[in-house]
Amino acid sequence: MKFNVLTLFPEMIEQGINTSITGRAIKEGYISLNAVNIRDYTNEKHGHVDDYPYGGGAGMVMQAQPVYDAYKSIVGEEELKKEKEMRKRVVFLTPAGKTFNQRMAEEFAKEEEITFLCGHYEGIDERVLELIVTDNVSIGDYVLTGGELPAMVMMDAISRLVPGVLGNGDSSVDESFNAVNNMLEYPQYTRPEEFMGMKVPEVLLSGHHKNIENWRREQSLERTRIRRPDLLD
Ligand code: SAM
Repeated sequence: MKFNVLTLFPEMIEQGINTSITGRAIKEGYISLNAVNIRDYTNEKHGHVDDYPYGGGAGMVMQAQPVYDAYKSIVGEEELKKEKEMRKRVVFLTPAGKTFNQRMAEEFAKEEEITFLCGHYEGIDERVLELIVTDNVSIGDYVLTGGELPAMVMMDAISRLVPGVLGNGDSSVDESFNAVNNMLEYPQYTRPEEFMGMKVPEVLLSGHHKNIENWRREQSLERTRIRRPDLLD
């Protein structure tokens, strides 16, 4: 899986993704990261990439030209000759997008290459979005200062689903929001058997697989009912 990221802060992306499990996945070649600085592509002599919004209003808007040229540097002229629907996916991170979830992560994990476009300030000139963006995605109903954290959230969730990244192939199957039941995960325990007077539930020490499975299913259901009843609808 190849991730390209169009951003004004490539070092933020590189530091975030080159850490922990995703960092190891890069080293082992399961995923790759190409963070491109949009500012490197501005034609403006002082290096500006933003300007005042037409029609007035607060804040600045990222200009179309540097974003388009940064995108072109990644995909090349040939890709641009194709209809947008036939090109590799370009995800614009925006609060005005469809809310990201595990089903979307599964769908994106089937791609070979994804480009993330991170906005800053008030956003990006709509014309370049029309030209290059295939998916508008939000990570939740709140507004952040930039698209870098949302892009990292998506890359992390997608990477975990790329075969080989987690090491143990089952690790992403038996989890919250899994494709089978879309419920929250049951409580987990590890050693010691007793911590501050609190004991690990007896059933987990029994070695009885069927009873353990039943207990976990009940716990999942109860937790989902209390914390996220919307998932059961
Ligand atoms: N003016 C925009 C609006 O009201 O929808 C918000 C712009 S926000 C300050 C700057 C950038 O942060 C956005 O262009 C987007 O890339 C990113 N961003 C902020 N919140 C986000 C969210 N919930 N999901 C995805 N991206 C987000």
